[in-house]
Amino acid sequence: MERKNQQYNGLKEECGVFGIYDINGHDTARITYYALHALQHRGQESAGIAISNGKIIDYHKGNGLVTEVFNDKNISELRGRVAIGHVRYSTTGLNQIYNAQPIVVRYRNGYLALAHNGNLVNADELRKELEESGSIFQTSTDTEIIVHLIARYITKGMVEAVKMAMQKIKGAYSLVIMTEKALYAVKDPNGLRPLCIGLLDDSYCFASESCAFDVIGARLIREVSPGEIVEVSEDGIKSYALEGQKKEAFCIFEYIYFSRPDSVIRGISVYAVRREMGRRLAMEYPVDADLIVPVPDSGIPAASGYSEVSGIPYGEGLVKNKYVGRTFIQPDQAHREIAVRLKLNVLAESIRGKRIVLVDDSIVRGTTSKRLVSMLRSAGAKEVHLRISAPPVKFPCYFGIDTPSRKELIGSKASVEDIRKMIGADSLGYLSIDGLLSCFDHVGFCTGCFDGNYPIKVPEEGSKFKFEAGVCYG
Ligand code: AMP
Repeated sequence: MERKNQQYNGLKEECGVFGIYDINGHDTARITYYALHALQHRGQESAGIAISNGKIIDYHKGNGLVTEVFNDKNISELRGRVAIGHVRYSTTGLNQIYNAQPIVVRYRNGYLALAHNGNLVNADELRKELEESGSIFQTSTDTEIIVHLIARYITKGMVEAVKMAMQKIKGAYSLVIMTEKALYAVKDPNGLRPLCIGLLDDSYCFASESCAFDVIGARLIREVSPGEIVEVSEDGIKSYALEGQKKEAFCIFEYIYFSRPDSVIRGISVYAVRREMGRRLAMEYPVDADLIVPVPDSGIPAASGYSEVSGIPYGEGLVKNKYVGRTFIQPDQAHREIAVRLKLNVLAESIRGKRIVLVDDSIVRGTTSKRLVSMLRSAGAKEVHLRISAPPVKFPCYFGIDTPSRKELIGSKASVEDIRKMIGADSLGYLSIDGLLSCFDHVGFCTGCFDGNYPIKVPEEGSKFKFEAGVCYG
C-alpha cells in the first residue's frame, strides 16, 4: 500500500500475490508468471517476480501489465526453486517503479522478499517510529514497514520475527514472504483479504485466489486462516498461529465485485454466491419486465440468478469492449463518463421497446449506472429498472479496496429514491445487508463499506483520507 506526499493516504490499492516452493523441477518463474496473469484483475499497475536459487534472491519488476513487464528473455533469466510474485493496483501518479513489489532487501543475515495485499491502518505511526530509530525507507509503501520490522527481529528466527511484526502492524495483510531457502504465507488476525494454499504436483504454492491454481494446474487445498503463518521449507509445510484474539472479518466485497467469479474462497464459489445474490435480489425487489440485462462482466452472475427467480428472460443488451480491460481513467467526471462509453455499448436490437431490468453488482459514484440507463433509453428501452446485488456503498474501505471518500459515495449522500432520480431509472432496488449475508452459510465478514462497522479502529476520515486520484472500472 502506498503513501502519497509523505502523508498516509489510504484506499488506493488492491493487489494479487503468489508464491511457490518447487520440489518437482518446474520452471518456477514461468509458473509464477502464469499465476500472475490469472490474478491480473487484482492489479494492473505493476508486476514483479522474486526468485531464489538457494543462495541469492534475484528479481524483475516494472510498471504495467504482466505481459508488459515480462518477456521470454527476462523470464528465462529468473532461475530458482522458490519464487513469489505480485500484481499491484494503485491510482494515478504513484506508479513509481520503486514502489513495485515484491520488495527485495539484503540484510545482515541474507535476503528477504515480500509481497503484500491489503492496507495497514497504523502505517504512519510505525514509519515515524522506525525512522526515528534510524530506518531508511526506499519506497513510499507501507509494505516496506513490514519488511523493516521483520528484519529488525530476525535474530529470533523467521517465524518469531513475523509474529513480532504482526503484533505491531494493524490492518489488512495477506503476505507471501521468502528467504533464500523458505517460503511463508501470512494472514492478518481478521483474515480480511484472501490467500489460499495449493499443491502443484508435490510443490506447495500460495495465491490470492484459486483461479491462479486452475491456470497452473495446481489443486486448491485450503484458505490460510486468520492470524496463521504457513512455512514451506526443505522440512515440508508447517503452520503457526499468532497468539491472541483472532476474529475473522473477511471482506465481503471480494465476493461481490473484486474476486474472479471462477475463484473459490473459504470453500465458497464466488460465481455461485453472486448468482445467489441475484436470486435474493429478485425476491426482495421483483418487477414486471421483459428482459434482464446484466452489466458485463460484473453483473452477469446476479442477473442470471434474478432471471431464474423472476422467470423473466435473461439477454444481452450491452456489449463490452474486450480490449479496454480495467481502464485507468483520469479522476474527473467527464473522463469517467467517456470510460463507461469506451467500455460498454448498447445492443439496440435486443432492448428496443422493452421493459429492461438492468443488473449490476454495485454503485460507487453512480457514474456507470447513470450513463447506462440513459444509453438504454436512447436506444429505445421502454422502461429501465435498476437492480443492484449489494447494499448501498456508504463508507470508505480502509483495508485495501479502492473506494472514494464518503462525500463521493452516492450511497452515503443520498436516499435510494434520490439516487434513483439522479440515475434516471424507473425503479431502483439494492439487496439488503441481511439479504446479502443470507447468501452465505458462513459468518465472519467485514461489511464496513455498507454499515461502517469495521473490524479494527480506522483513522478518522478527513484531511488524511481523501480520494485524489483516478478510478478503474470493472
Ligand atoms: P460507479 O460508476 O462509480 O458507480 O461504479 C460502479 C461500477 O464500478 C460497477 O459497475 C462496479 O462493478 C464497479 N466497481 C465497484 N467497485 C469497484 C472498485 N473498487 N474498483 C473498480 N470498479 C468498481
